[in-house]
Amino acid sequence: MEVLAGLRLEELENLMDELGATKFRARQIHNWIYDKSVSSIDEMTNLAKDFREELKKRFIVTDTKIKIKQSSSDGTLKYLIEYPDGECVETVLMRFDNRANLTACVSSQVGCAVNCSFCATGKRGFIRNLTAKEIIEQVLTIQRDTGLKVTNIVFMGQGEPLLNLKNVLEALDMFNHDFQIGSRRITISTSGIIPKINELASCELQSTLAVSLHAPNHKLRAEIMPVENKYPIEELKKSLLNYIEKTGRRITIEYIMIHGFNDTVECAKELAYFLNDLKCNINLIPYNSVEETKYRKSSNNDIMKFKYLLEHSGKKVTVRLERGADIDAACGQLRGRSKLSDSSDS
Ligand code: SAH
Ligand code: SF4
Repeated sequence: MEVLAGLRLEELENLMDELGATKFRARQIHNWIYDKSVSSIDEMTNLAKDFREELKKRFIVTDTKIKIKQSSSDGTLKYLIEYPDGECVETVLMRFDNRANLTACVSSQVGCAVNCSFCATGKRGFIRNLTAKEIIEQVLTIQRDTGLKVTNIVFMGQGEPLLNLKNVLEALDMFNHDFQIGSRRITISTSGIIPKINELASCELQSTLAVSLHAPNHKLRAEIMPVENKYPIEELKKSLLNYIEKTGRRITIEYIMIHGFNDTVECAKELAYFLNDLKCNINLIPYNSVEETKYRKSSNNDIMKFKYLLEHSGKKVTVRLERGADIDAACGQLRGRSKLSDSSDS
């Protein structure tokens, strides 16, 4: 069977041509897929019954399944999504109190090759890239399941989006045109793949670039992020300055707060100095525990002190709200399986 989800309007129009139907039918089907997010052709009720039967002989809406769904006490939903080849990734839906936004945290790869020492995804190694269709299917799955429209996307699930840039950019284009989610509502988070940041700068992307810095100097960063040996922090800074100049966009600096490692007053001062001439906001992320690691989260007191010192240097600083930690859906806790599937594996 062929799959309708992931087809662009033009592809649907060509298909309708082939089936001897009008272009208008393509618009209707497009709307059922991306806006109303139906799961079956039968639900496309403004298409004639005969036509639906004809479509059903050749097409299904989707071939992606929800393997496990978990809800957190804070309203966060985590889905383990299974693709036809049996590979799985997590997708997380976050709602924030008193905001209408619905943010989907999507995965760009199955596993990740970057292997940061603090991250559960990295522990799994790299399995494969996701196609653009597989990326957008994550958002469609959420929409089908909840009946809600996603308004914001963050590429902060499994994987390093810039090591799958072609497919990520194609997904971005689909989010823009098929889902009507504007680039400014989309954030791409990277561990700092310099040549790809330069490539993004030249396409003058309007999305927000978030950079996982996590340490103020080469020595400390290399201890937790092997990518630092290939793309050192000083070079990274040059590419970020170029990115900001080319796009005119402010970037986000992500900084994990690990107790006793990178949360000292000296680190805050060194970071403030490093970021001084960089047009950026800073997002402090209290470390989320991962079974295999020895790291612990910084105390609230240390986080507040750190925040204050950075603010004093003139930066806007936010502390990331911890979402879905009770279901291992928080940053860095995604590993392509859930506790439930762990137990059934063994
Ligand atoms: N691979 C990309 C995007 C996915 S991770 C990247 O690394 O930027 C999204 C964010 O969560 C990154 O800033 C990442 O460093 C952070 N993260 C990873 N493990 C974490 C953990 N255990 N606790 C808190 N944040 C974590
Ligand atoms: Fe990969 Fe990001 Fe995890 Fe590092 S933090 S291993 S880049 S997913």
